[in-house]
Amino acid sequence: MQNNNNSHISHLSAAIIGLLILGTLVLGWLSQKPSDKAYALNDENKFSQQRAFEHINVIASKPHYTGSVAHNEVHDYIVQQLQTMGLEVETQNTLALSPYYYASAYVANIVARLPANSNNPANILTIQTDKKALALMSHYDSAVSSSLGASDAGSGVATILEALRAFIASKQQHSNDIVVIITDAEEVGLLGAQAFVEQHPWAKDIGLVLNFEARGSGGASFMLLETNSGNSALIEKFKQANVPYPLANSLMYSIYKMLPNDTDLTIFRDQANINGFNFAFIDDHFDYHTAQDTPERLDRSTLNHQASYLVALLPLFANTDLNTLKSDADQVYFNLANWLLVDYPFSWVLPIFIILIAQFIILLIVGLWRRTLTLAGLLLGFIPALTSVLSAGGIGYLCWHWSLWLFPEFIDTPQGFTYSGHWLIALAILLSIILNAAIYRWTEYKFAKISPLEWLLAPTFLWLLINGVIALHLTGAGFLVLLLVAPLSALAYSIVKPQKNIHPVIYILLSLPGILVLAPQIPMFVIGLGLSLLYIASILTSLLLIVLLPIWVKMPYFKWQQRTLELATLVCIIGLVINTGYSQDQKKPSSLNYLLDGNSGKAMMFTYNPHLDIYTEQVLATADQGSELVEGIYPMNPWRKPTFSRIVQAIDLAPLNYQATQTNMTENRFVVSLLVTPQAESARIQLATDNAMMIESISVDGQAFTSEGKAHQRGFFFTHTVSQTKPILIEFTYTAEQEVEIRLLDTRFDLAKVMPTLVTRPAFIMPSPFRLTDATVISETLRYAPHNAEHNELAPLASAPQ
Ligand SMILES: [Zn+2]
Repeated sequence: MQNNNNSHISHLSAAIIGLLILGTLVLGWLSQKPSDKAYALNDENKFSQQRAFEHINVIASKPHYTGSVAHNEVHDYIVQQLQTMGLEVETQNTLALSPYYYASAYVANIVARLPANSNNPANILTIQTDKKALALMSHYDSAVSSSLGASDAGSGVATILEALRAFIASKQQHSNDIVVIITDAEEVGLLGAQAFVEQHPWAKDIGLVLNFEARGSGGASFMLLETNSGNSALIEKFKQANVPYPLANSLMYSIYKMLPNDTDLTIFRDQANINGFNFAFIDDHFDYHTAQDTPERLDRSTLNHQASYLVALLPLFANTDLNTLKSDADQVYFNLANWLLVDYPFSWVLPIFIILIAQFIILLIVGLWRRTLTLAGLLLGFIPALTSVLSAGGIGYLCWHWSLWLFPEFIDTPQGFTYSGHWLIALAILLSIILNAAIYRWTEYKFAKISPLEWLLAPTFLWLLINGVIALHLTGAGFLVLLLVAPLSALAYSIVKPQKNIHPVIYILLSLPGILVLAPQIPMFVIGLGLSLLYIASILTSLLLIVLLPIWVKMPYFKWQQRTLELATLVCIIGLVINTGYSQDQKKPSSLNYLLDGNSGKAMMFTYNPHLDIYTEQVLATADQGSELVEGIYPMNPWRKPTFSRIVQAIDLAPLNYQATQTNMTENRFVVSLLVTPQAESARIQLATDNAMMIESISVDGQAFTSEGKAHQRGFFFTHTVSQTKPILIEFTYTAEQEVEIRLLDTRFDLAKVMPTLVTRPAFIMPSPFRLTDATVISETLRYAPHNAEHNELAPLASAPQ
């Protein structure tokens, strides 16, 4: 794009352009999170990675889900650590019920309060009478039943313990009380948070929550806001903290607001209108909720990142009037590397879009009038642009399916992100680059008369279209307008100086902010959403490329450039193939369960594994495929059905111990009372039905769920996580027109204990996350026929046969 429209870019310019783009990509990548260095080794007043890991090592030494033995040990350890800091610590022991999940448990939240030590904060002129407290939150239970919980959420607990210790040690002033809430039973329905918000007297004091979470074992940590109102006051304050690695943008904020969320913070926002910041990392998703969630696999840099937020925000929010953080307005925001967080009001997004589209139309008309642009050029530009984007989408789709064909056992990893996932993302991105460059080179060669500026018209139009959709439906993504800066500037320049085009180096300089903001996020979309959406990464790559390629194809062509890309592709393929397959460090998830039908005495083993393996084969080698055997005995949903099952000899289990009575309220309306005495091994007591019935209310030990009744079709409708062996009284009222079957299930995670003949898993296999595994389940049916007086009682009333 120099004097002569179609001349090639000089070698010097090409070298500068190459370095600028490469430098921006590296900067974008490196500035996402701190290094893994352990700072402040011997400084008592500073956060220390080592000290934080000492906590994580203790917390994550055993699975410690709510109800497990190690759970109590972890509880006691955290209490003792907080006491060592001089805090008054209490355990909130209470029954918690979640109206979202119809789940309940007796929880043990760890709660501590550090009273304010200063009444004269710089930014509060008059002393507030309704001063709010700052809450630091994470959860200490691990996921059921095999997770070690080092990242989820041992990392969060350790970050809070160590940051608070350093804060107190350095004798910092704080005008707000600081409340520590280490919740219990997060993994079984956000129950600890529910109990705190509903029942704890301090809940009304909380003005802001900083919550620390994990959905993997590595990667950068994102800041995600939760608020019922606008974000502008929160963003304003967050900016003041100058956190060293602010990784945040309002696209995530907007998407997050549209989705049903499930972190402890959601309960605070939803039920008590308390604002909060989530700090969460999501990479290495394959470790999430597994026995691989170990201290060793938690990235040091990730922990540093979590700590960097808290260390910067704690002194700030401990001295901020937390009543001032509510605002109606929303801000668009994004981090520009780790230099700064840029923000501007949501209300600007639509006007900016209107101005840009007007500018485009005017420049187009003037260009056509002056014949610097041609209609043919405009229309032809859509050929490479659309072909590039569509073929990139195809490449992403094919890469994923090719990898599934190469290694069908990929689908045994239920997280949707496999060990070779990063290689696969890199491969899809590289192939998009190679293919899109070839498409542009070919079109440019074919239609040599079209100028680079004309090639840019179609990509500009496409990006305007995207920004139009954003302005109307996804305002938080408004910052993607950055991608229009370079092409619209080039267009404007050609009007001002008709004989000259914008210098290619200037063009790339104008593109850099867009590249810096969008490029590092491209892999994150797939890491966040799963590899089956790999095409999102390749499509986004292509959308970024089409505003650069008209320049790129004018760059001097060297074979080595092409060869470098091809070599990188080859490296990705090799990386993919090497990391395909399971090993000691990349374990295959595998589930195996024992199920007893208490009514018939029929016993069976089943798995959710898509493929049998050496562990499941020992009992299921001759199994039936599918879920038929289990049907009606263990509830299932359409997307998670047992895959292999086999009848086995019943084993000796502690029985399902309950008494049931039913009262007929009206002809079709019934109250059932179940007094269940959990066995020492019992982990959860559940109710399920496959019948159409209206469950009007459920209560546990006299405490009722606050939500409205629900019509029930299939599956579980109530889950109680057992953390004490005392009997629980479950009462529910339902209406039904026909005979109904209600299943009462008692699940224990003691398979290895009760089946000592089972050979333990080899080192390359681990218990499956998200799916029931290592469990023994006793399931009994309570039948009732509304119109048949003879059967007008629940059966069986006694405890189950063994
Ligand atoms: Zn968690």
